[in-house]
Amino acid sequence: MIEVSSAFQMVVSQIDAVCDRLKVKDVWRLRLENCERELTVHFPVKMDDGTVKVFTGFRLVHNDTRGPAKGGIRYHPDVTLDETRALAALMTLKTAVVNIPYGGAKGAVICNPKTLSLSELERLTRRYTAEISILIGPESDIPAPDVGTNPQVMAWIMDTYSMGKGYSVPAVVTGKPLNIGGSKGRFEATGRGCMISAQLAAKHLGINLKGATVAVQGCGNVGAMAAKLLAREGCWVIAVSDSKSGVYNPKGLDIEGLLIQKRETGSVVGFKGTEAITNAELLELKCDILVPAALEHQIVKENAAAVKARMITEGANGPITTDAHKILVDNGIFVVPDILANAGGVVVSYLEWVQGLQSFFWDEADVNKYLEKIMTSAFTEVLEMSQRQKVDMRDAAYMLAIKRIADAMEARGIFP
Ligand code: NAD
Repeated sequence: MIEVSSAFQMVVSQIDAVCDRLKVKDVWRLRLENCERELTVHFPVKMDDGTVKVFTGFRLVHNDTRGPAKGGIRYHPDVTLDETRALAALMTLKTAVVNIPYGGAKGAVICNPKTLSLSELERLTRRYTAEISILIGPESDIPAPDVGTNPQVMAWIMDTYSMGKGYSVPAVVTGKPLNIGGSKGRFEATGRGCMISAQLAAKHLGINLKGATVAVQGCGNVGAMAAKLLAREGCWVIAVSDSKSGVYNPKGLDIEGLLIQKRETGSVVGFKGTEAITNAELLELKCDILVPAALEHQIVKENAAAVKARMITEGANGPITTDAHKILVDNGIFVVPDILANAGGVVVSYLEWVQGLQSFFWDEADVNKYLEKIMTSAFTEVLEMSQRQKVDMRDAAYMLAIKRIADAMEARGIFP
């Protein structure tokens, strides 16, 4: 990965360019260029060996004009305040582009969850939750899983928050386990959303999904699900990678078998009947669909010209830098941007929140039906905007989102 000066600055420059084009009033532009609330916490955690370590975490609300703030919590050793700002801003845009009544937020703790025991992870999560409880709540700011966190972490957050209140508050987080108010279909939702947007883009480009070749970078919640669901649609998933390295077979991988190996050994490396491939090589494979679903800034100006995919569905947040995106688009590659392509997770988080608030739970077919409806309508609106304004899909998604947020700010005005 090549260092980029500021992830937030990159999002701000994209917001700026769209505000210019839409002639958004300076006052609304300024609000979008800053996070509304930024909380940094340094908190102690008792480790299993009796020592105490101090961890640093963040919770940021970028904008909550259109509804409660919504965004995941990341546990990663390299996460920074700047990156969390960028991710929070992307959430504001994402909830607006799919038109669900939320703003955007993000949280993070600088830690390596892979080196923590389960009980250390629980103590860290509970203390972090207590520290950020001044911001979160079912009507104010609702966390969800992101890199390094999962339904169990959400259960500890819900329990800690509820203990503080004295009653159960399931709607304070989404992505919870099913037995405490999670939604059917939530675990697969981001990968399913990627699959739906790849399907819609392929249809638009005249690519037949049956036999289309796919390369997926990242084999976590998003990458693994996207690979599995695209394979079920008849695609040949020819390469998959994780943080260790990747595997490749030009005739298509046995995805179900690969995911069993990943679950059992923690890695895709060495899967039977495959050649080894590096993460860098995977991004440059000749294929129909590339799904970067690991971390940000994987396709940068240094490797963008070598990308040979016909279309890219951004499973991860910010996997392509601004410079690189221009090179890809100039080379005729159709990019479905992150705020649209990976919005399936936040859409089903919204459906989970709605089910929790009304204490009435739907079956998986209903959840998937709503997800498909919302994703299809957002994709169609972005594509129409892109054709009408003669801009690429990322600019079109930003235009749609920023117009909705600016209109909402205009309607609410400035307090007091
Ligand atoms: P995860 O922790 O479940 O999986 C991440 C995967 O990426 C793992 O397989 C890991 O081995 C791999 N990885 C890490 N560093 C890598 C590297 N340098 N090269 C290649 N692979 C690497 O995380 P996730 O939830 O799947 O999230 C992945 C991306 O999708 C992130 O950008 C996240 O913000 C975004 N996202 C996640 C969701 C969600 O619902 N989980 C929703 C929207 C967006």
